[in-house]
Amino acid sequence: MSQALVVFSGGQDSTTCLFWAKKYFETVVAIAFNYGQRHISELSAAKVIAEQAGVSFHIFNLDMLSAVSHNALTDSQMEVETDQPDHRPPNTLVEGRNMLFLTYAAIFAKANGINNIITGVGQADYSGYPDCRNEFILSLNKTLNLSMDFEYIIHTPLMWLDKSQIWEMAGNLGIFEIIRDQTITCYHGFAGEGCGKCPSCKLRNKGLVTYLNSKENG
Ligand code: ZN
Repeated sequence: MSQALVVFSGGQDSTTCLFWAKKYFETVVAIAFNYGQRHISELSAAKVIAEQAGVSFHIFNLDMLSAVSHNALTDSQMEVETDQPDHRPPNTLVEGRNMLFLTYAAIFAKANGINNIITGVGQADYSGYPDCRNEFILSLNKTLNLSMDFEYIIHTPLMWLDKSQIWEMAGNLGIFEIIRDQTITCYHGFAGEGCGKCPSCKLRNKGLVTYLNSKENG
């Protein structure tokens, strides 16, 4: 029986991955982490979506992540930057987050006899998060296999897709409304359209407009 574990947050990308996984694997399990993110509404949204998808869902505590460094996603005193004039990563970068998430996901996966791990990271809309790059995922996959003597396969279905293509994938999977109305991508924690102003909302909404336009014209 084919089984997959999805690293899930209730956002646009990981929700698209959750339903993608349901199409290709017989059993899908979702895992999320509480790492002191400002907006715990993310995890409530994730819980509701996982229920709708009919997958079992587990939340684990990783709040140490917000204690060892500061960033605008976990520190409510920090303003979310809207642009980075000197080309450094945005202050919403949580250093090491994807490595930790995938490592804990891998430990959980092995304990449950699952070797497929799915993550919604991608580098097409690369915004300076080094652990979203394909090179990092390939490297970590190898490291995890060596560290636990297990044949993990990390799947990254969104790696080369821009936001409008991710919307298109949601359309093709028949989950456009779920993504549009229920997922939380906004750095301020608002579901659906979000605040409309933060970098994450701008990227999401720009992709949506491009997707809807191409649908109309195509
Ligand atoms: Zn926003």
